[in-house]
Parts: sequence; structure tokens; C-alpha cells
Amino acid sequence: MPDNVTVVDHPLVLHKLTLLRDKHTPSAVFRQLVKEISLLLAYEVLRDLPMTTRHIETPMAEMEAPILRGKKLVIVSILRAGNGLLDGMLDLVPSARVGHVGLYRDPETLTAIEYYLKLPDDIANRHVIVVDPMLATGNSVSAALTRIKEHGATQIRFVCILAAPEGIKALTQSHPDVQVFTAAIDSHLNDHGYIVPGLGDAGDRMFGTK
Ligand code: URA
Repeated sequence: MPDNVTVVDHPLVLHKLTLLRDKHTPSAVFRQLVKEISLLLAYEVLRDLPMTTRHIETPMAEMEAPILRGKKLVIVSILRAGNGLLDGMLDLVPSARVGHVGLYRDPETLTAIEYYLKLPDDIANRHVIVVDPMLATGNSVSAALTRIKEHGATQIRFVCILAAPEGIKALTQSHPDVQVFTAAIDSHLNDHGYIVPGLGDAGDRMFGTK
């Protein structure tokens, strides 16, 4: 396992992941599960957020109490499935800024084609969390990270729900500075670039488009 990869294999995450993988799970439940898993992943991903203290009064005494320092987070969703993870993360950190990268996979070559990009102006000064539930070939994520770096970002983490060994390898080579967080690493990719056993097409299952 490369140093830059963390597998968040908490029992709650694994339980919810099994429900998510099940092909009989309907879209509404799928979306809810993605959101719940994103909260649990965020707990690990944001564990070392910078802190400061604030002077407060409890009903019993005054104290210097810990509080998050500044509003220095950007969450970048890789469209469209990334939006499922984004919702949960924004519930936890409502002050985070949000960016979007729109990429689709060319079905023949599996390369990433960009069709949309909107990032906060000051992304260079912020911690960036890039979210996409599936790290398959790594092509889309790699392309998104390259574009985000072109806008000056240097402190970047990538969060997914499932990763393929092929995607981990590709990402570790193309962006070794990026910390990767995933709930599980599956067996392999099939000939169409889908993760096996995986959960199918995350976007279609989330939005009921197939
Ligand atoms: N994208 C998905 O939605 N599922 C996969 O298995 C791979 C890429």
C-alpha cells in the first residue's frame, strides 16, 4: 500500500458500503448511503484541520475552547457522481467553498474529456478536498488534479468510496503529492473500465438514469 493511501475501513463504513454495492438498493437509499459514508470519510480526511481557540463562557466557567481556524477549505466535486459526496461534506463544513470539474470518460479510449470547470478564485490559498466516489482508471481524477494544480492549489486530498488497484497506481504515479482516502480497494477493472466487484455506475445509481 503506497504511503499516500488511507483505507478508512471502519465497521460502519464497511456495513454501509455493502448496502451500497447491492444491486437491489434503490436510488434514494443509494444517495442516502453515499451521504452517510461521506460523513464518515470526512471525519478521517479532516482529522488534522488547523485549529485555534476562542474565549467562551460555559454556564460554569470561562475557558479557551478549540475551534476550527479560518474558512480555508475548498471541496471540488468531479461531476456528476462527486456531488453525492459533496452534500455530506458540506453538511459537516458548511463554510467550505465549492468547485466543480466536469469530465466524461470517452467510452473507447477511457480518457477524460473536460466539459466544465469552475473553481474559487483563491483556491491557491486553501486546502482542497477533491471528491469522486470511484477511482477506476485514474484518468478523470488525474486530469482534474492537473487542472486544479494549474489554478495554484498545492495542498490537495482526494476522497473516493471505491478504488481499483490500477487507479491507485496511476494516481500515485501522476500525483504522488496527493493524499488518497478510500473506503475500500477492490479486485480489478473490467474491459470497460468498471471496478469489480464495485457497485456499477455510481452516477446512474445515484440519479436513477439507467
Ligand atoms: N465509474 C463508475 O461509476 N463505476 C465504476 O466502476 C468505474 C467508474
